[in-house]
Amino acid sequence: MTDNIKNIDTLVIGAGQAGVAMSEHLTHQNVPHLVLEKNRIAEAWRTGRWDSLVANGPAWHDRFPGMEFPGDKPDQFVPKDQVADYFEAYVDKFKMPVETDVEVISASRNESTSGFTVKTSKGTINAQRIVSATGPFQVPIIPAIAPENPDFLQIHSAKYRNPDNLPAGAIIVIGAGSSGVQIADELRRSGRKVYLSVGPHDRPPRAYRGRDFVWWLGVLGLWDMAANVPGKEHVTIAVSGANGGDTIDFRELASKGLNLVGRTQSFENGVVHFSDDLACNIKAGDENYLSLLDRADQYVVDNGLDLPEEPEARILLADPDCMVNPTKSLDLKANNVTTVIWATGYATNYDWLKVDVFDEKNQPQHHRGVSIEPSVYFLGLPWLSRRGSSFIWGVWHDAKYIADQIVIQRQYQQYQNKI
Ligand SMILES: Cc1cc2nc3c(=O)[nH]c(=O)nc-3n(C[C@H](O)[C@H](O)[C@H](O)COP(=O)(O)OP(=O)(O)OC[C@H]3O[C@@H](n4cnc5c(N)ncnc54)[C@H](O)[C@@H]3O)c2cc1C
Repeated sequence: MTDNIKNIDTLVIGAGQAGVAMSEHLTHQNVPHLVLEKNRIAEAWRTGRWDSLVANGPAWHDRFPGMEFPGDKPDQFVPKDQVADYFEAYVDKFKMPVETDVEVISASRNESTSGFTVKTSKGTINAQRIVSATGPFQVPIIPAIAPENPDFLQIHSAKYRNPDNLPAGAIIVIGAGSSGVQIADELRRSGRKVYLSVGPHDRPPRAYRGRDFVWWLGVLGLWDMAANVPGKEHVTIAVSGANGGDTIDFRELASKGLNLVGRTQSFENGVVHFSDDLACNIKAGDENYLSLLDRADQYVVDNGLDLPEEPEARILLADPDCMVNPTKSLDLKANNVTTVIWATGYATNYDWLKVDVFDEKNQPQHHRGVSIEPSVYFLGLPWLSRRGSSFIWGVWHDAKYIADQIVIQRQYQQYQNKI
């Protein structure tokens, strides 16, 4: 790009899976466009996650329709770097107009003419439309209860890489969603003493009656749920493809030596306090697990399927001691805790987008990604249109919808009065 102002119909910002999906659909619909990426294609998969991460869903599922993962192991969980390779290959295959190492610094609506002036690290662009595909998980969130200037290492899960990167000593992992539980288990397996702070969670079976949970959620219509169940907005989902893929079972993890505690409440004078909710959270997670088995069994009956029965999946281990006699507080020094890892999620950052589209919580206001501000679109956000929206298989469908909306607008704009 040069300093001359470049004109483009649709500018997509971000070349993670969302930006790549958007480009594919815009290409099919002959919409002139450009994708700008400040780092590399799928950088979050390349460098934004811990070393051993694999995709949560099997290769046959966690992909776009137009291309399979190389190899002949569709039921395996693909390592994160191969996921990044996949999106790079996808861009090559469909010859997508992606420019990397270009950061969008600001985008503001033009006055007295259509479109937006977009300032980038490599020049200015005039775009008729903007699709923000800058990611659902951009800014790591560490809650306000975190101690200031602690005398132990305190990091977000986004900064965790592997057990060898942490100082010797015990570790507290706070948050037992997919990230927290995988990191805690990896540290436990490496021989470290680990405490895992477990809040409300859902924990689907990894597989049941010979089918992976992604299949069950698909046939039961649960990926396509348009909105989360009221009251479940802050319930995390604990699922993992690590070590070939196992059901997350907190009772079993406790039996293997993981020290489970309730939700983290506060840090005071070198002591961390936990809520007395561990048993309740684990039992609610079990109910969620069992309810999915019930729905799966019903689906088998309703559809006359011949899938092997699996009654043993319903047998839960007895309540471990940590549920019966919960740890309510922990003296960090006395227990040699040298690291606290906050696996507490992410926020978005739209500082670059200077349009009036955000609500009081700084969330974009949109319907299925079409924002309240004409010609501004969002893609890749959790629950953008459905439960699957922020995942690989879901974002592709949302991108298709947004491409359709862009084509509709272009048709109106190109209309010429023939009278
Ligand atoms: C730990 C973890 C594990 C996950 N595992 C799975 C999984 O197994 N399966 C699955 O389907 N999903 C998974 N997800 C969810 C989701 O698929 C990923 O977060 C994915 O990276 C989101 O893709 P995206 O394209 O929406 O955003 P991102 O991958 O974050 O891409 C956004 C891109 O925008 C770029 N960008 C941002 N701002 C600018 C700017 N101003 N100018 C130019 N470029 C910019 C960034 O550099 C980035 O490359 C996981 C998420 C996490 C956190």
